[in-house]
Amino acid sequence: MSDTDATSAFYDGGCTCRHVRYRMTTKPLFVHCCHCTWCQRETGSAFALNAMIEADRVQLLAGDVVVVDTPSQSGKGQRITRCPKCEVAVWSNYYGAGDAIRFVRVGTLDEATHFAPDIHIYTSTKQPWITLPPDTPAELEYYRASERWPRESLERRAALLAKFPRPR
Ligand SMILES: [Zn+2]
Ligand SMILES: [Zn+2]
Repeated sequence: MSDTDATSAFYDGGCTCRHVRYRMTTKPLFVHCCHCTWCQRETGSAFALNAMIEADRVQLLAGDVVVVDTPSQSGKGQRITRCPKCEVAVWSNYYGAGDAIRFVRVGTLDEATHFAPDIHIYTSTKQPWITLPPDTPAELEYYRASERWPRESLERRAALLAKFPRPR
């Protein structure tokens, strides 16, 4: 994320068949590049790129979605939101943050280049041919938001926790 992004900017995205179109109404809280083996399997690729954002800042512009309960590394499951026609995943919700925070799949945004990773996580299982940029934080596993997120995002998170005191 760059500091020059206007907070009033919005970012549209959608699935491959264009049945689902959605909009992030602001920039996200934080962008994860996750190198865990679960993300590798679920994407069929080497990592997943997720933009974390408050659920009420994601609007469905067109189409409808299906939510698929999917096993997760925590054992508590994640719910992956997909297009009912082409079944491309557009975002997911994890147990920890419940319904309050969506993990938007950055590759489904029309202009995904806006959102380079703010952090690389689970690099202990990173594919060996990937070289991480030296100026982006990286964690062998997970991390504490209080130590990594910018102040503005922590304030947004605090507002969210006030609204939803206990994660689902
Ligand atoms: Zn579709
Ligand atoms: Zn992962």
